[in-house]
Amino acid sequence: MKRRHDERDLIFSRVRLEKGTKAYEDYYREKPHLREGDDAVRGKTLRPRSKKDSAVLRRLLALLERKSNTLASLYDHLEATPLGPTRRPFESLVEPKTSMRRAGAVALGYVELNETHYYSHHGGLSTALGLENRGQPVSLPYTYAIAFLVRIDRDGLNCSPRLEGMLATEEAYLTIASIGAAMAIEFKKRGYESVFASEAYYPGPLVPLGMDAGLGEIGMANHLVHPVYGNAVRIGAVYTTYPLKPDTPRLFSLAAFCKRCALCLMNCPSKSIKPHPRIVNGRTHYKMDDQTCHAMWFRSGTDCAVCLKSCPFSQGVDEADIEKMQKDPELIDAIVEKHIKKHGRQPRCRPQEET
Ligand code: SF4
Ligand code: SF4
Repeated sequence: MKRRHDERDLIFSRVRLEKGTKAYEDYYREKPHLREGDDAVRGKTLRPRSKKDSAVLRRLLALLERKSNTLASLYDHLEATPLGPTRRPFESLVEPKTSMRRAGAVALGYVELNETHYYSHHGGLSTALGLENRGQPVSLPYTYAIAFLVRIDRDGLNCSPRLEGMLATEEAYLTIASIGAAMAIEFKKRGYESVFASEAYYPGPLVPLGMDAGLGEIGMANHLVHPVYGNAVRIGAVYTTYPLKPDTPRLFSLAAFCKRCALCLMNCPSKSIKPHPRIVNGRTHYKMDDQTCHAMWFRSGTDCAVCLKSCPFSQGVDEADIEKMQKDPELIDAIVEKHIKKHGRQPRCRPQEET
Protein backbone atom coordinates (compact mmCIF):
# COMPACT_ATOMS: atom_id res chain seq x y z
CA MET A 1 0.00 0.00 0.00
CA LYS A 2 1.26 3.50 -0.85
CA ARG A 3 2.14 5.62 2.14
CA ARG A 4 1.68 9.39 2.11
CA HIS A 5 4.31 11.42 3.90
CA ASP A 6 2.93 13.64 6.65
CA GLU A 7 4.44 17.14 6.85
CA ARG A 8 3.92 17.05 10.62
CA ASP A 9 6.68 14.44 10.79
CA LEU A 10 9.30 16.81 9.42
CA ILE A 11 11.61 18.09 12.12
CA PHE A 12 10.87 21.67 11.04
CA SER A 13 7.24 21.06 11.95
CA ARG A 14 7.91 19.00 15.09
CA VAL A 15 10.14 21.58 16.73
CA ARG A 16 7.46 24.23 16.33
CA LEU A 17 5.22 22.39 18.77
CA GLU A 18 5.12 24.20 22.06
CA LYS A 19 5.70 22.20 25.19
CA GLY A 20 2.58 21.83 27.30
CA THR A 21 0.13 22.36 24.45
CA LYS A 22 -2.40 19.72 23.45
CA ALA A 23 -0.81 19.44 20.00
CA TYR A 24 2.56 18.72 21.64
CA GLU A 25 1.15 16.09 23.98
CA ASP A 26 -0.92 14.44 21.24
CA TYR A 27 2.04 14.24 18.87
CA TYR A 28 4.55 12.77 21.33
CA ARG A 29 2.01 10.34 22.75
CA GLU A 30 2.04 8.81 19.27
CA LYS A 31 5.82 9.20 18.76
CA PRO A 32 7.43 9.13 22.23
CA HIS A 33 10.84 8.15 20.82
CA LEU A 34 11.15 11.60 19.18
CA ARG A 35 10.36 13.73 22.23
CA GLU A 36 13.76 14.01 23.93
CA GLY A 37 15.78 14.69 20.78
CA ASP A 38 13.25 17.23 19.52
CA ASP A 39 13.15 18.98 22.90
CA ALA A 40 16.91 19.48 22.67
CA VAL A 41 16.51 21.76 19.63
CA ARG A 42 13.00 23.08 20.25
CA GLY A 43 12.62 26.85 20.36
CA LYS A 44 16.05 27.53 18.90
CA THR A 45 16.34 29.91 15.98
CA LEU A 46 18.94 29.57 13.31
CA ARG A 47 20.99 32.72 13.70
CA PRO A 48 23.58 33.21 11.00
CA ARG A 49 26.71 34.56 12.62
CA SER A 50 30.19 35.39 11.58
CA LYS A 51 33.28 36.01 13.70
CA LYS A 52 33.86 39.08 11.56
CA ASP A 53 31.18 41.54 10.51
CA SER A 54 31.60 40.21 7.04
CA ALA A 55 30.08 41.40 3.82
CA VAL A 56 28.67 37.89 3.37
CA LEU A 57 26.70 38.13 6.59
CA ARG A 58 25.25 41.48 5.54
CA ARG A 59 24.30 40.08 2.13
CA LEU A 60 22.72 37.03 3.72
CA LEU A 61 20.63 38.98 6.22
CA ALA A 62 19.44 41.33 3.46
CA LEU A 63 18.54 38.35 1.29
CA LEU A 64 16.60 36.63 4.09
CA GLU A 65 14.57 39.77 4.68
CA ARG A 66 13.92 40.23 0.97
CA LYS A 67 12.97 36.58 0.64
CA SER A 68 10.24 36.61 3.24
CA ASN A 69 8.67 39.75 1.71
CA THR A 70 9.01 38.37 -1.80
CA LEU A 71 7.41 35.02 -0.99
CA ALA A 72 4.37 36.65 0.58
CA SER A 73 3.90 39.02 -2.36
CA LEU A 74 4.30 36.21 -4.92
CA TYR A 75 1.49 34.23 -3.28
CA ASP A 76 -0.63 37.39 -3.04
CA HIS A 77 -0.07 38.00 -6.73
CA LEU A 78 -1.06 34.42 -7.57
CA GLU A 79 -4.19 34.60 -5.46
CA ALA A 80 -5.17 37.92 -7.01
CA THR A 81 -4.76 36.56 -10.54
CA PRO A 82 -8.24 35.73 -11.88
CA LEU A 83 -8.76 32.34 -13.46
CA GLY A 84 -8.96 32.82 -17.24
CA PRO A 85 -12.61 32.48 -18.34
CA THR A 86 -11.78 30.05 -21.16
CA ARG A 87 -9.09 27.45 -21.22
CA ARG A 88 -6.20 28.34 -23.53
CA PRO A 89 -3.69 25.52 -23.95
CA PHE A 90 -0.06 26.18 -24.78
CA GLU A 91 0.77 25.91 -28.46
CA SER A 92 3.12 23.05 -27.63
CA LEU A 93 3.14 20.72 -24.63
CA VAL A 94 6.82 21.47 -24.04
CA GLU A 95 6.22 25.22 -23.84
CA PRO A 96 6.16 25.58 -20.02
CA LYS A 97 9.61 23.97 -19.90
CA THR A 98 10.97 26.42 -22.44
CA SER A 99 9.93 29.53 -20.55
CA MET A 100 11.04 28.14 -17.19
CA ARG A 101 14.40 27.18 -18.61
CA ARG A 102 14.81 30.75 -19.87
CA ALA A 103 14.09 31.97 -16.35
CA GLY A 104 16.88 29.87 -14.82
CA ALA A 105 15.69 26.27 -14.35
CA VAL A 106 18.43 23.87 -15.47
CA ALA A 107 16.36 20.68 -15.55
CA LEU A 108 12.60 20.10 -15.69
CA GLY A 109 10.18 17.20 -15.79
CA TYR A 110 6.43 16.64 -15.86
CA VAL A 111 4.59 14.34 -13.46
CA GLU A 112 1.06 12.99 -13.35
CA LEU A 113 0.28 13.29 -9.66
CA ASN A 114 -0.75 10.42 -7.42
CA GLU A 115 -1.43 10.40 -3.68
CA THR A 116 2.26 9.92 -2.80
CA HIS A 117 3.10 13.33 -4.25
CA TYR A 118 0.94 15.06 -1.64
CA TYR A 119 1.45 15.22 2.11
CA SER A 120 -1.36 13.60 4.06
CA HIS A 121 -1.50 16.64 6.39
CA HIS A 122 0.01 20.10 6.51
CA GLY A 123 2.67 20.66 9.15
CA GLY A 124 1.94 24.27 10.01
CA LEU A 125 4.98 25.61 8.15
CA SER A 126 3.12 28.29 6.21
CA THR A 127 2.69 30.84 8.99
CA ALA A 128 4.71 33.34 6.92
CA LEU A 129 1.72 33.38 4.57
CA GLY A 130 -0.72 33.81 7.45
CA LEU A 131 -1.88 30.19 7.16
CA GLU A 132 -2.51 28.21 10.34
CA ASN A 133 -2.76 24.86 8.61
CA ARG A 134 -1.15 22.39 11.02
CA GLY A 135 -3.11 19.13 10.98
CA GLN A 136 -5.27 20.06 8.01
CA PRO A 137 -5.57 17.23 5.50
CA VAL A 138 -3.97 18.08 2.17
CA SER A 139 -6.70 17.94 -0.41
CA LEU A 140 -5.89 19.79 -3.61
CA PRO A 141 -7.36 19.73 -7.11
CA TYR A 142 -4.10 19.54 -9.08
CA THR A 143 -3.50 16.57 -11.35
CA TYR A 144 -0.07 17.36 -12.83
CA ALA A 145 3.11 19.03 -11.71
CA ILE A 146 6.27 20.45 -13.17
CA ALA A 147 9.31 19.70 -11.03
CA PHE A 148 12.44 21.70 -11.77
CA LEU A 149 15.94 22.33 -10.53
CA VAL A 150 17.83 25.55 -9.92
CA ARG A 151 21.57 25.37 -9.37
CA ILE A 152 23.20 26.44 -6.14
CA ASP A 153 26.31 28.46 -6.94
CA ARG A 154 29.02 25.84 -6.54
CA ASP A 155 31.80 28.13 -5.36
CA GLY A 156 29.53 29.34 -2.60
CA LEU A 157 28.34 25.84 -1.76
CA ASN A 158 31.93 24.63 -1.47
CA CYS A 159 32.44 27.01 1.45
CA SER A 160 29.79 25.15 3.48
CA PRO A 161 29.20 25.00 6.40
CA ARG A 162 30.16 28.66 6.30
CA LEU A 163 27.84 31.53 5.47
CA GLU A 164 28.83 31.58 1.79
CA GLY A 165 27.17 28.17 1.40
CA MET A 166 23.96 29.30 3.05
CA LEU A 167 23.89 32.47 0.95
CA ALA A 168 24.19 30.40 -2.23
CA THR A 169 21.39 28.07 -1.13
CA GLU A 170 19.08 30.91 -0.13
CA GLU A 171 19.63 32.59 -3.50
CA ALA A 172 18.54 29.36 -5.19
CA TYR A 173 15.39 29.19 -3.02
CA LEU A 174 14.45 32.70 -4.07
CA THR A 175 14.97 31.92 -7.75
CA ILE A 176 12.80 28.83 -7.41
CA ALA A 177 9.94 30.82 -5.96
CA SER A 178 10.12 33.44 -8.72
CA ILE A 179 10.16 30.84 -11.51
CA GLY A 180 7.37 28.80 -9.90
CA ALA A 181 5.16 31.83 -9.27
CA ALA A 182 5.49 33.09 -12.85
CA MET A 183 4.47 29.69 -14.23
CA ALA A 184 1.57 29.24 -11.80
CA ILE A 185 0.25 32.69 -12.72
CA GLU A 186 0.53 31.80 -16.42
CA PHE A 187 -1.49 28.61 -15.85
CA LYS A 188 -4.20 30.58 -14.06
CA LYS A 189 -4.38 33.16 -16.83
CA ARG A 190 -4.89 30.30 -19.25
CA GLY A 191 -7.81 28.99 -17.20
CA TYR A 192 -6.07 26.23 -15.20
CA GLU A 193 -5.80 26.19 -11.40
CA SER A 194 -2.23 26.24 -10.16
CA VAL A 195 0.03 26.81 -7.19
CA PHE A 196 3.79 26.72 -6.69
CA ALA A 197 5.89 25.23 -3.92
CA SER A 198 8.34 27.31 -1.95
CA GLU A 199 9.86 27.41 1.50
CA ALA A 200 6.61 29.01 2.66
CA TYR A 201 4.28 26.38 1.26
CA TYR A 202 4.82 22.75 0.28
CA PRO A 203 1.82 20.69 -0.91
CA GLY A 204 4.00 17.57 -0.86
CA PRO A 205 7.52 16.20 -0.62
CA LEU A 206 9.64 17.41 -3.53
CA VAL A 207 12.35 14.75 -3.58
CA PRO A 208 10.00 11.90 -4.68
CA LEU A 209 8.32 14.30 -7.10
CA GLY A 210 11.68 15.24 -8.60
CA MET A 211 12.63 11.62 -8.97
CA ASP A 212 9.37 10.77 -10.76
CA ALA A 213 9.90 13.79 -13.02
CA GLY A 214 13.20 12.32 -14.22
CA LEU A 215 15.43 14.81 -12.42
CA GLY A 216 17.64 12.26 -10.70
CA GLU A 217 17.69 9.62 -8.00
CA ILE A 218 17.69 9.75 -4.22
CA GLY A 219 21.19 9.58 -2.75
CA MET A 220 22.49 8.47 0.63
CA ALA A 221 21.97 11.93 2.14
CA ASN A 222 18.29 11.66 1.07
CA HIS A 223 18.62 14.51 -1.40
CA LEU A 224 17.84 14.30 -5.07
CA VAL A 225 21.04 13.73 -7.05
CA HIS A 226 21.00 14.86 -10.66
CA PRO A 227 23.60 13.11 -12.83
CA VAL A 228 25.00 16.42 -14.07
CA TYR A 229 24.29 18.87 -11.23
CA GLY A 230 24.46 16.44 -8.33
CA ASN A 231 23.18 17.77 -5.00
CA ALA A 232 24.15 21.33 -5.90
CA VAL A 233 20.55 22.17 -6.69
CA ARG A 234 17.27 23.07 -5.05
CA ILE A 235 13.97 21.62 -6.27
CA GLY A 236 10.96 23.67 -7.24
CA ALA A 237 7.46 22.59 -8.29
CA VAL A 238 4.35 23.98 -9.91
CA TYR A 239 1.10 22.07 -9.43
CA THR A 240 -1.67 22.47 -11.97
CA THR A 241 -4.82 21.07 -13.54
CA TYR A 242 -3.22 21.59 -16.98
CA PRO A 243 -2.63 18.18 -18.65
CA LEU A 244 1.09 17.56 -19.17
CA LYS A 245 2.77 14.60 -20.81
CA PRO A 246 4.61 12.85 -17.94
CA ASP A 247 8.34 12.22 -18.10
CA THR A 248 9.88 9.04 -16.75
CA PRO A 249 12.40 8.61 -13.90
CA ARG A 250 16.03 8.94 -14.99
CA LEU A 251 17.97 6.11 -13.38
CA PHE A 252 21.77 6.00 -13.48
CA SER A 253 22.71 3.33 -10.90
CA LEU A 254 23.02 5.82 -8.05
CA ALA A 255 22.32 3.22 -5.34
CA ALA A 256 25.32 1.18 -6.52
CA PHE A 257 27.42 4.36 -6.62
CA CYS A 258 26.39 5.44 -3.11
CA LYS A 259 27.33 2.02 -1.72
CA ARG A 260 30.92 2.50 -2.90
CA CYS A 261 31.17 6.26 -2.29
CA ALA A 262 29.61 7.29 1.05
CA LEU A 263 31.51 10.60 0.99
CA CYS A 264 28.47 12.47 2.31
CA LEU A 265 28.30 10.03 5.22
CA MET A 266 32.02 10.26 5.98
CA ASN A 267 32.05 14.07 5.84
CA CYS A 268 28.85 14.67 7.80
CA PRO A 269 30.04 16.51 10.93
CA SER A 270 27.18 15.16 13.05
CA LYS A 271 27.24 11.58 11.77
CA SER A 272 23.56 11.89 10.86
CA ILE A 273 23.67 10.02 7.56
CA LYS A 274 23.09 6.27 7.73
CA PRO A 275 23.91 3.83 4.95
CA HIS A 276 20.65 1.94 5.35
CA PRO A 277 18.38 2.06 2.33
CA ARG A 278 14.67 1.41 2.67
CA ILE A 279 11.97 1.35 0.04
CA VAL A 280 9.06 3.75 0.44
CA ASN A 281 6.41 3.77 -2.29
CA GLY A 282 8.82 1.99 -4.63
CA ARG A 283 11.58 4.58 -4.19
CA THR A 284 14.82 4.13 -2.28
CA HIS A 285 15.25 6.45 0.68
CA TYR A 286 17.93 6.26 3.40
CA LYS A 287 17.67 6.37 7.17
CA MET A 288 18.94 9.59 8.61
CA ASP A 289 19.04 11.23 12.03
CA ASP A 290 17.26 14.52 11.49
CA GLN A 291 17.71 15.54 15.14
CA THR A 292 21.50 15.43 15.14
CA CYS A 293 21.52 17.10 11.72
CA HIS A 294 19.30 19.89 13.01
CA ALA A 295 21.45 20.31 16.10
CA MET A 296 24.45 20.73 13.82
CA TRP A 297 22.69 23.60 12.04
CA PHE A 298 22.40 25.47 15.32
CA ARG A 299 26.02 24.79 16.18
CA SER A 300 27.25 26.09 12.82
CA GLY A 301 24.70 28.91 12.55
CA THR A 302 24.04 27.83 8.96
CA ASP A 303 22.21 25.05 7.14
CA CYS A 304 25.48 23.09 7.06
CA ALA A 305 25.18 21.55 3.55
CA VAL A 306 28.47 19.67 3.83
CA CYS A 307 26.65 16.61 2.42
CA LEU A 308 25.58 18.62 -0.64
CA LYS A 309 29.07 19.72 -1.56
CA SER A 310 30.63 16.32 -0.75
CA CYS A 311 28.80 14.48 -3.51
CA PRO A 312 31.02 13.78 -6.52
CA PHE A 313 28.05 14.55 -8.77
CA SER A 314 27.84 18.07 -7.28
CA GLN A 315 31.38 18.69 -8.45
CA GLY A 316 30.82 17.06 -11.84
CA VAL A 317 31.28 13.48 -13.01
CA ASP A 318 32.12 12.90 -16.68
CA GLU A 319 28.98 11.92 -18.54
CA ALA A 320 30.95 9.23 -20.37
CA ASP A 321 31.92 7.72 -16.99
CA ILE A 322 28.27 7.72 -15.91
CA GLU A 323 27.35 5.83 -19.07
CA LYS A 324 30.12 3.29 -18.54
CA MET A 325 29.48 2.66 -14.84
CA GLN A 326 25.93 1.62 -15.55
CA LYS A 327 27.26 -1.27 -17.59
CA ASP A 328 30.21 -1.96 -15.31
CA PRO A 329 29.72 -1.00 -11.62
CA GLU A 330 33.37 -1.93 -10.98
CA LEU A 331 34.27 1.45 -12.52
CA ILE A 332 32.61 3.31 -9.65
CA ASP A 333 35.69 2.99 -7.42
CA ALA A 334 37.82 4.60 -10.13
CA ILE A 335 35.32 7.47 -10.51
CA VAL A 336 35.34 8.11 -6.77
CA GLU A 337 39.15 7.99 -6.67
CA LYS A 338 39.34 10.44 -9.57
CA HIS A 339 37.01 12.78 -7.70
CA ILE A 340 39.04 12.56 -4.49
CA LYS A 341 42.28 13.18 -6.36
CA LYS A 342 40.84 16.37 -7.83
CA HIS A 343 38.79 17.73 -4.91
CA GLY A 344 40.00 15.90 -1.82
CA ARG A 345 37.51 14.08 0.40
CA GLN A 346 35.69 17.35 0.82
CA PRO A 347 35.87 20.30 -1.59
CA ARG A 348 37.16 23.44 0.06
CA CYS A 349 36.48 27.14 -0.27
CA ARG A 350 38.71 28.59 -2.97
CA PRO A 351 41.31 30.94 -1.43
CA GLN A 352 40.17 34.04 -3.33
CA GLU A 353 36.73 33.63 -1.77
CA GLU A 354 37.93 33.62 1.82
CA THR A 355 36.34 36.48 3.76
S1 SF4 B 1 23.33 19.01 6.56
FE1 SF4 B 1 25.31 18.65 7.60
S2 SF4 B 1 24.76 17.67 9.52
FE2 SF4 B 1 22.98 17.49 8.17
S3 SF4 B 1 23.20 15.53 7.14
FE3 SF4 B 1 24.13 17.07 5.80
S4 SF4 B 1 26.30 17.05 6.38
FE4 SF4 B 1 25.17 16.04 8.03
S1 SF4 C 1 28.15 11.68 -1.74
FE1 SF4 C 1 28.31 9.62 -2.57
S2 SF4 C 1 27.06 8.41 -1.17
FE2 SF4 C 1 26.47 10.51 -0.85
S3 SF4 C 1 24.74 10.88 -2.22
FE3 SF4 C 1 26.58 11.49 -3.36
S4 SF4 C 1 27.14 9.65 -4.50
FE4 SF4 C 1 25.74 8.98 -2.88
